[in-house]
Amino acid sequence: MPRALITGSAGQDGVYLSRLLHAKGYRVEGIGRGGLYGEVDRGYEADLPDRNAIRAIVGESRPDEVYYLAAFHQSSEGGRFAEEELVRTSFDVNAVALNQMLGALADVCPTARLLYAGSSRVFGEPIDLVQNEDTPFNPVDPYGIAKAAGIQTCRYWRRSRSLFAVSAILYNHESPLRPPSYLSQKIVRAAVSSALGTRVELRLGNLSAQVDWGHASDAVRAMWLMLQQPDPTDYVVATGQLHTVSDWLDEAFNTFSQDWRAVVSEHPYLLNSSRPTVILRGDASRLNRATGWRPEFTFHALVRDMIEKELARQKCARPTAKDSL
Ligand code: NDP
Repeated sequence: MPRALITGSAGQDGVYLSRLLHAKGYRVEGIGRGGLYGEVDRGYEADLPDRNAIRAIVGESRPDEVYYLAAFHQSSEGGRFAEEELVRTSFDVNAVALNQMLGALADVCPTARLLYAGSSRVFGEPIDLVQNEDTPFNPVDPYGIAKAAGIQTCRYWRRSRSLFAVSAILYNHESPLRPPSYLSQKIVRAAVSSALGTRVELRLGNLSAQVDWGHASDAVRAMWLMLQQPDPTDYVVATGQLHTVSDWLDEAFNTFSQDWRAVVSEHPYLLNSSRPTVILRGDASRLNRATGWRPEFTFHALVRDMIEKELARQKCARPTAKDSL
């Protein structure tokens, strides 16, 4: 039975990946915090930058595959961090702790393969309109800078110690497991609440912003495929399709034949200044040629999946709500 170790196993991708690996017959172990490990066979409590703890876990787990999904992301942590701490914590989790994990693997189980979850944000303000593996990194925020360092760190260990360490340069991917603070989930929740008769008001920053959105289940399938390849290579994982925030609103509210304009207002001042309104669009043709990967979820199917799960959740939470849908 192959063994996988996932850092950040309780997160969105960690849960989808655990399900995929279980279906493929893996034993899945996870590293998490606060007693949350997702859907793994065994969970280890650890803060990723804790070098000794991670070494001990690697020694005990002896994984065949490691998926480094844990990440620090300023926008999901709110405005709690001062600038210097923001940059330091981004590096601590997204690069320094990764380096320690790679060091532990090199010493303890050097045949293990590691997948690092990189991000399209390494392209920052991109030089190319459509980005691929040859597009130069040009990150503009601490998250993107630290992710770029993480990708380069994997390349370093690949060269210096011949570790099989690869990076998936992931574009946005959503799912019913997205926390409520994310744009996609805000829209889906508002559409469902409104359809169930609750008065909602949704304030959004920029309705014409364009994003390359995929589904988390497609992203984790790409991660697994990357670790099954004969040679370690980094790949862009993207749909290549752009959609606007308005498209999300159309898809979500049209499900219930509702007009989102009655519910949504646009407030440009809500735009996050650390995230410039650049367009990131990925070209995953190299991954497709190497592995046959292509997204199974269309944009429509992604929104539909989120709507269905949210509808079930809200109906369950208020079983007396009038069921007119
Ligand atoms: P999530 O935020 O849902 O999950 C990340 C997990 O990592 C959480 O369970 C979090 O736990 C854990 N974690 C964070 N810091 C630490 C730490 N110091 N020690 C232990 N655990 C920690 O992210 P996703 O699943 O959405 O994303 C997975 C990866 O893919 C991330 O690396 C992300 O940067 C990358 N990515 C994701 C994209 C997306 O659209 N989803 C796009 C591009 C890249 P806790 O809740 O305790 O913080």
